[in-house]
Amino acid sequence: NEIVATRLAVVKPSASLAAKAKADALRAAGRDVIDFTTGEPDFPTPQHIVEAGVQALQSGHTRYTASAGTPALRQAIVRKLQRENGLSYELNEVVVGSGAKPIIFNALMASLNEGDEVIIPAPYWVSYPDMVLLNGGTPKIVYCPASDGFKLTAQALVNSITPKTKWLVLNSPNNPTGAVYTHAELRSIADVLVKHPHVHVLTDEIYEHFVYGDTKHVSLLNAAPELRDRTLVVNGLSKAYAMTGWRVGYGAGPAALIKAITLLITQTTTCATAAAQAAAAFALDGPQVCVDEGRQLYMGRRDHMVARLNAIEGIECDLPGGAFYVFASVAGLIGRQTRLGKTLKNDLDVTEFLREDAGVVVIDGTSYGLPSYLRFSFATSMSEIDRGCDAIAAAVSQLE
Ligand code: PLP
Repeated sequence: NEIVATRLAVVKPSASLAAKAKADALRAAGRDVIDFTTGEPDFPTPQHIVEAGVQALQSGHTRYTASAGTPALRQAIVRKLQRENGLSYELNEVVVGSGAKPIIFNALMASLNEGDEVIIPAPYWVSYPDMVLLNGGTPKIVYCPASDGFKLTAQALVNSITPKTKWLVLNSPNNPTGAVYTHAELRSIADVLVKHPHVHVLTDEIYEHFVYGDTKHVSLLNAAPELRDRTLVVNGLSKAYAMTGWRVGYGAGPAALIKAITLLITQTTTCATAAAQAAAAFALDGPQVCVDEGRQLYMGRRDHMVARLNAIEGIECDLPGGAFYVFASVAGLIGRQTRLGKTLKNDLDVTEFLREDAGVVVIDGTSYGLPSYLRFSFATSMSEIDRGCDAIAAAVSQLE
């Protein structure tokens, strides 16, 4: 007579949400915390989008919408995919969800049979393996070391495909490493997939607008148009338009899969919030200056944070090509001893040490499938980046 289903035994709470909760709890207890866990823009939704949302509420967008999303938003998504990604979709190949996250969850629920395998390159966004497990699938984690730029190689993919492989999950720009796949890299992955027609691809491109310097975002289907019939493109408004709390995301893919995802929406959430959908359509069709400003802002912070972290003995990182995270090796801190005589045995210990001795909250690499690393978010102000790096440098200098 246990209230919680055995099905849930396989799931962990999201490590990033748990870390944020820890930072909030410390702050509530009166500690001065520097939070490098943030997975969302640190500025508000641009004013013109907020106004569109208010206007939508005032003009009666207060009811249920079609479960696949309003025609207006789906049309705006079709236009966006054409304009920004060069991809052509029909309305029945697009579905709106309450964020990209439920689109991914529903896609897995709609497609996985018991024991189907899902290839997830590590480091990965924390939710993929748990969402696969919850839907009866088996995550097949493929280790992608720093020496490969944290990216899946064609050879590693070949080695991990089996007759049971249902999906390959690609995420470029990547959370947590910021790795961005080039056209050539995507093409070499596609060359493998062409030989394995039973493998589908879920390409999560939610950070597409945050790529820096000469780095360009390439959508998988730009490099491999022939994979269109078995690819689900996932994207959303959360990061690009600082709209995390509005909960709007979408998927574009084969009509049969889109229909199955929509069926799940009809029996679960019914639809994404009506006014949020109206604001999202406005965001996609409206001026894009805000997206560009975000990118510029993050680029400066990225350069600064990487320089500051690399100046700390024992921490090492490369410039991430995209997203708003630095994935830094702390291998150089492991094995050292704190003032209280505790040996730092792994990245989890380093995370605790930084929290306790520096007041800086970060997320351990273990949670992303790659130990000895930490994820530092630079979706925070320059002054917080400085304050945090000063505190880390001071705490590290006390290590034996
Ligand atoms: N995909 C990745 C890689 C993410 O990092 C996130 C959010 O952190 C999401 C998807 C979910 O975004 P949404 O807010 O649209 O659900």
